[in-house]
Parts: sequence; C-alpha cells; structure tokens
Amino acid sequence: MDKLLLQAVEYLKQGDVISAPTDTVYGLFGDATNDNAIKKIYEVKGRPSHNPLIVHVNGIDMASKIAEFNNEAECIADYFWNIVKKPLTIVLKSTSNNISKYVTAGLSTVALRCPYNNIAIDLINAFNGPLAAPSANTSNRISPTSYSMVKNDIGDKIPLILDGGDCIVGIESTIIDLTRKPYVILRPGGVSKEDIEVFLKTSIVFDNQNDNDTVIAPGMLKKHYSPILPLRINATTPCVGEAFIAFGKTDCNYDANLSTNSNLYEAARNLFITLSRLDNPSKYTGIAIMPIPNIGIGVGINDRIKRAAYKE
Ligand code: AMP
Ligand code: MG
Repeated sequence: MDKLLLQAVEYLKQGDVISAPTDTVYGLFGDATNDNAIKKIYEVKGRPSHNPLIVHVNGIDMASKIAEFNNEAECIADYFWNIVKKPLTIVLKSTSNNISKYVTAGLSTVALRCPYNNIAIDLINAFNGPLAAPSANTSNRISPTSYSMVKNDIGDKIPLILDGGDCIVGIESTIIDLTRKPYVILRPGGVSKEDIEVFLKTSIVFDNQNDNDTVIAPGMLKKHYSPILPLRINATTPCVGEAFIAFGKTDCNYDANLSTNSNLYEAARNLFITLSRLDNPSKYTGIAIMPIPNIGIGVGINDRIKRAAYKE
C-alpha cells in the first residue's frame, strides 16, 4: 500500500485528522466513532460544534451498519453511489451507538455519502470504518478543491494532506433527507434535483428553510464559502479594480471564465479554485461574477455564489 496512505490511516487510528481529496472538494477526515477525532475536526475548522457532519463510507454495507435502509433508500444509494457515481448524501435514521454523538450533533438521523474518488475510497477501505469529513477549510471560507488550497488554509494545523490533484466535481454533494416524504433536498450540490427526480420518477422539494435566518446548518448559513474580497454577483461588466469572472461567450475582458462553452459541470469544477486565485486584495478591490443559469447543477453553483457574496 502507498506509504502516505498507510501514514494517513495511522493518524486516523490515533484519533488525529488528515485531509484527502474526494470527488466534490477536499475533506478533513476523522474517525467517525472517536469523540476526540471529531472534536479535532471542529477545532481545526473553527466550525460551531452543534452542526452535524457527513459520514463517509465505502458502500451500502458499511452504511447499513450505521443507518436504517429501506428498499428505496438502498436503490437510491446503489444508483447514485455505484452506478452513476454522483455526489449524493442521504440522511437516514441512525441505528448505531458507535458513531460519535458529535458527528450527528445529537440528532436521531445521520448523513451518509460514498465518495467517488480512489484516494478517498482507499482511505476508507484501509481504515476499515466510517470517516466523518467536512470540507478541509476554515469555517465560512472558500471550500478547497486542490491540494494547495488546503495547504494554504489549514496546512499548519494538520499532520498530512493526501494530494489527489484537482477535484472533479468542484462543489459539495447534494444532501437529500430520505426520512421525510416527499424527500427534501437540504442542500443543492453536485447532483441536480432533476437527475434525482428522473431516477425516482417522482417530485422532490427544496428545503425552503434554507433562506431563513434561523437555519443552523453550516452549509446553509447566509454567509459561507466567502472570499476575503467582496463578491458581486449577476455582474454584466467589471467595475474599475474588480477581478471579473465570466461564464460562456462574452465580449468583456475577463480574468477567468468558468466555462467558455457554458458547461455547468465545468463551471462547478472551476468555481472555488477561481475564487481562491482571484481573492487577492493587493491586486483587486473586489470580484464580480456573471450570472450563472439556475438550472441543473447551476442551482448548486448559485447557492454557493449567493452565500459567498452575502454581506452581514
Ligand atoms: P459540510 O460538512 O459542511 O459539507 O456540511 C454537512 C452538511 O450536512 C451540513 O449542512 C449539515 O447540516 C448536513 N447534515 C449532516 N448531518 C445531518 C443530519 N443528520 N440531518 C440533516 N443534515 C445533516
Ligand atoms: Mg464546507
């Protein structure tokens, strides 16, 4: 086995936390059954400890030791995790006393995901148990989609980062609550509502709580994913001093284009890495970004941009 992977597993067994890539963004991994490891995750991120984490598993077998699967939940997990390999996190009733209470923040449910990334899966296999993993960034800041983004943000707080290059999806997973009917999307992300509905042959809903002030889930805070510079959304032209992020064909001069041929998957992949590259107060006064179509995974992209641009 790869030496760094072995080292990573050693750290995890000791209750330490490490970073590794997933298909969506880089994760900050810790043993989901170890209270101290989970406390360390919250500490490194500076994340409020009352907010639950997603548990990463290598498949349905491991997941079914943690949560109650009915036939439909099993079909959904099998389709999105094994067949189309898209980033879907499912929330189910928890059945395990082994998972740290800090992971689920005392809830009776648990959020589960099987990442589509060789390093992440090798890590879970080698560790041979479920791993909690939020994004490997300081809470509220830009989510990392490359090794150097993790290194520059929390590199001095953790013993190891596994380098898997740039993440292929680029925004976080879609979270769906399967304990309620109709099923509820708690967070839009790398798999679209339409893709889920086509598979289910039925309608699902977005959680409109997301826009309330009272929501406590971190991915759902009004301000999140933020660059240091102010972010201006739905911009058609740049103002003096601003970095300009384009989408699709445009006559404007731009500093980055998320996708010159208007491909939303490419735009998602480029979003956080572009924000991070342009977030340079010694060069720019702000960042402006063109409108992104609010369809398919554009909904997930717009969710991130809106929160990144939120002014308190
Ligand atoms: P993050 O780790 O920042 O990608 O976000 C994890 C997201 O999963 C947060 O927005 C949590 O609120 C959500 N989450 C985790 N566990 C649960 C759960 N049991 N029920 C509902 N949402 C959850
Ligand atoms: Mg995050």
